[in-house]
Amino acid sequence: MNKFILQPLPFSYEALEPYIDMKTVEIHHNKHQKAYVDNLNLTLAPYPMCQSYSLKELIKNVSNLPSEIQMPVLNNAGGVYNHQFYWDCLQPPPIDPPLGQLFEAINRDFYSFDNFRNEFTKEALKVFGSGWCWLCTTDNGKLQIISTSNHLTPLSTSLIPILVLDVWEHAYYLKVQNNRNEYINNWFKLINWLLANKRYLNAIG
Ligand code: MN
Repeated sequence: MNKFILQPLPFSYEALEPYIDMKTVEIHHNKHQKAYVDNLNLTLAPYPMCQSYSLKELIKNVSNLPSEIQMPVLNNAGGVYNHQFYWDCLQPPPIDPPLGQLFEAINRDFYSFDNFRNEFTKEALKVFGSGWCWLCTTDNGKLQIISTSNHLTPLSTSLIPILVLDVWEHAYYLKVQNNRNEYINNWFKLINWLLANKRYLNAIG
């Protein structure tokens, strides 16, 4: 049984050019993300009772799963969830500027958009090895930048994710080699701020 599927991208493989190249997007989605989907299905195949869970439920309730699949579920369900979230944060250029209550909250909590950008970049550069850099909110609207290693998510905390940047080397190495800073600058040219603002409004409900 293959419960989980490789969710199609919300745009074509070449749509993020020139900031993220077609080859990188294709391999990232159709090889890396697909491998997490396949491995999650393989991991869950002998455990039909776990197959009714959604991705989020698997991650949030991982400590209730049989102990021998907790680590592979964290790695692979996290891998699938984080990648889906990553693509959903992006849109083909040119993008609209940040807006709405999210933009106001960024200015309030980070003093200025430029300062937010610097803080986010610093955190993303600091991730050692493979991981993710997130903009999250508390349920009362206070923004926080955090990072998680491997495929860990903020879902087990009280924080609600608004944006995520994949800082695994496979996300950028083909185009910019080890220049993670250039990749981060390019990512800022692809953010779907309209959707990020909607996510923020939902989170603070
Ligand atoms: Mn990735």
